Amino acid sequence: MSSVTPEKHEFQAEVKQLLDIVIHSLYTNKEVFVRELISNSSDALEKLRHLKITEKDIFDDHLELEINITTDDTANTITIQDFGLGMSHDELVENLGTIAHSGSKQFLQAIKEGGEENANLIGQFGVGFYSAFMVASEVKVYSHSWKEDEEGHLWKSDGSGAYEIEPVEGQRRGTKIVISLAEEQKELAKAEQIQRIIKEYSSFVQFPINLNGERVNTQDAIWLKNTSEVKDEDYTEFYKFACKAFDEPMLRLHFNADAPLTINALLYTPATNIEAMGFTRAESEVALYCRKVLIDAEPKGLFPEWLRFLKGVVDSEDLPLNISRETMQDSALVQKLNSVLTKRYLRQLEEEAKKRPETFEKFWNTFGSFLKEGVTSDFTHKDQLTKLLRFESSITDKGKLTSLEDYVSGMKEDQKEIYYLQGSNRESIENGPYLEAFKARNLEVLFLYLPIDEFVMNNIREFDSKTLISADQDDIEMEQLTPEDAGEPLESSEADKLCGWLKETLGERVESVRSSDRLIDSPAMSSNSDKFMTNSMRRMMQQMNPDAPKMDAKVVLHINPRHGLVKNLASLRDSDPDLAKSVAEQIFDNTLVEAGILDDPKKMLGRVYELLEKLSTKD
Ligand code: ADP
Repeated sequence: MSSVTPEKHEFQAEVKQLLDIVIHSLYTNKEVFVRELISNSSDALEKLRHLKITEKDIFDDHLELEINITTDDTANTITIQDFGLGMSHDELVENLGTIAHSGSKQFLQAIKEGGEENANLIGQFGVGFYSAFMVASEVKVYSHSWKEDEEGHLWKSDGSGAYEIEPVEGQRRGTKIVISLAEEQKELAKAEQIQRIIKEYSSFVQFPINLNGERVNTQDAIWLKNTSEVKDEDYTEFYKFACKAFDEPMLRLHFNADAPLTINALLYTPATNIEAMGFTRAESEVALYCRKVLIDAEPKGLFPEWLRFLKGVVDSEDLPLNISRETMQDSALVQKLNSVLTKRYLRQLEEEAKKRPETFEKFWNTFGSFLKEGVTSDFTHKDQLTKLLRFESSITDKGKLTSLEDYVSGMKEDQKEIYYLQGSNRESIENGPYLEAFKARNLEVLFLYLPIDEFVMNNIREFDSKTLISADQDDIEMEQLTPEDAGEPLESSEADKLCGWLKETLGERVESVRSSDRLIDSPAMSSNSDKFMTNSMRRMMQQMNPDAPKMDAKVVLHINPRHGLVKNLASLRDSDPDLAKSVAEQIFDNTLVEAGILDDPKKMLGRVYELLEKLSTKD
């Protein structure tokens, strides 16, 4: 017994909250705590293996790098011991008394946002060490740091708000966790139970796990095997264990290469995009190994940023074992790996798109935003990525997608440009005035639903030597077309006069007014003559910074010389100039609403009331 009185510490408030949820959660899969603790032990062993490269004086240096688990169904305890790097007094306080773990943070965030019913998400985040309290009435952690001059300590808690720490003699290097099982969890103290759980969740741990003296995990590094030797279930199990994933992977890529580098890689595309769920930015979870030895679990620079959703393992014999994390990102070798891996992954996507379009569509719907990010930020892979982009269009059915390659192969002979329109959804684009000219001429228009999409198109600029252009731009040349059932147009001299008068009436707000063949059913539309500040770009900037001074749009007003309203306006000019002026301004404002660039709707509403008043007093 130690003669020193144990120090009492309160848990940090966040930990208390977490523990409260963990202990009271109805999460049925409580046995994941075994995986969480083994995974911590495996990390601690891995860290020690690295320390051994640089440090000479390591406490208990002779101990094997292994994990020993014992069960005692009389005392109802489970003990998990590793000979890893251990923790000092201060590390125990810091690591087990506060929340450092990003999974726990995300879990608490989900509770905050979604309420207590999100508590059942616990299994999806993995709350690490604290998961032990799902089954324990008390947890004791004995630990001795790898540093010779540190003392050993015992940390203990029943999870209710406080913990105690006291020095203990005779500790070996590493950490020993003793779990006293809660009454209703006694079953778990049976060796068969724990053996089953280890086999299920921890078969791929790279250090020996012994249960009551017998080795349990025997799986070798799966990524070094031949693809024909590995079963589907093993791949999925590995994904769940090594990548701490809870879904089934959407895609899997296992490949070995000898040139230009020796690479064994196993890459998983998850089924879900956590960024889209509103959680934090994804961090690449492709671990880097050299001959089965972990170099870095989250290496920077191994993949381009836009592939940060990938999970898995890359093993390269060409890496020096002692490469430091800081220099790794800049190393030419990692850059070379990055290039080979990215190309290979893109090839997988191309193959999927060709051979299994439904799977690729699923991928696109989940991770398409990352490919768009790649197009705008990664010049090296831009062309390959551009081919993978998918769009709805004016000739696809709702929900069906097409590619730029398909678009080009369906182009009319004399068509030189690729057209697109941005709008919040299919209906608003189809009902707007811009599409009708293209529809009438059987020209396909790609539909973009996010403001950022236009930015992507501006970045691509050209595909297969065809310029990409927004269909609301002013300078699009079109063949003359007279619809069969169209009425007589205004005479051209009349139309010219009306345009001149409109320009005068609307003043600086329009660049010019034009009688136009681009309209079929609508009386008028505004097009944009500014190639750089397109309408959707303007909308996006306004959303991002609503208080910035408004920029004047360069607007060209097109009028439809066959439309009744336009013809009426031509004569109203003489008979009732005041009313004609109000009607002209109203038509113009309507076109700005359709373009999504009307800055101040109040003035327009006032005018609508005036017009209605006039209309309702007419006899
Ligand atoms: P995570 O392991 O995801 O960081 P945990 O809550 O499980 O989160 O653990 C918190 C920290 O406690 C770990 O980051 C590690 O520094 C330390 N720790 C936990 N278990 C051990 C162990 N067996 N050996 C050494 N350190 C450990």
